[in-house]
Amino acid sequence: MSTGIVVAVDGTSGSGKSSTSRGAAERLGLRYLDTGAMFRAMTWWMLRHAIDVHDAGAVAAHVDLPVLVSGTSPAQPTIALDEVDVSAEIRSDAVNAAVSPVSAVPAVRARLLAMQRAIIEEALAGPGIVVEGRDIGSVVWPQAPVKLYLTADAGARASRRAAETGSTDDAAVERTRESLQARDVIDSERVTAPLTRAEGAVHLDTTPYTLAEVIDLVVDLVEGAKAQA
Ligand code: C5P
Repeated sequence: MSTGIVVAVDGTSGSGKSSTSRGAAERLGLRYLDTGAMFRAMTWWMLRHAIDVHDAGAVAAHVDLPVLVSGTSPAQPTIALDEVDVSAEIRSDAVNAAVSPVSAVPAVRARLLAMQRAIIEEALAGPGIVVEGRDIGSVVWPQAPVKLYLTADAGARASRRAAETGSTDDAAVERTRESLQARDVIDSERVTAPLTRAEGAVHLDTTPYTLAEVIDLVVDLVEGAKAQA
């Protein structure tokens, strides 16, 4: 019998999902899965192998070849592709620009969905897991007892993301804003598992809050759900 809890954290690009999810998982003693990193690693593989990322048929034909392994420690999440750590490569501009078209390919989603569910099942044998992405509460694990939908205004998202990468001049922030918004449009409009607020998800606009405040709120929600279980 599983005893663990699943916390589904979805939302727009740069809304604070990763920092919030990792922080909450650490506080609660849960595992952590960054599903975006899986889509990014798949995209990096396609780029490395010169697959046209805008050719859905070509992407689908190669979807089973990459060997992906996600580490689920919230303190030190890892992503290995063909046995090599690609944590840095998957954050490149090339991947930012290509990840949304690759993620819209149904065969990509089907393969990663199976992997994500297997990781969640395994974590449920222990205390549980915080899973972040775009379709966790709607498709991957709709039965999650705690679901969040995080957003933030575009300016705040761009400044935070640019600060993370160390480029804070106006032009860099503007490029980041455009990149985040372009991904949101494709992610929200795709046919398979679009970014959406799942039924039962708590919507939190993180713009006015500090990271610590958002983490406190998530921890409270999870403890409340555990007390009710
Ligand atoms: O979360 P992150 O910004 O790293 O995600 C990168 C991209 O991966 C998203 O823009 C989206 O295209 C895709 N993604 C997805 N479904 C998820 C997680 C990420 O389609 N569950």
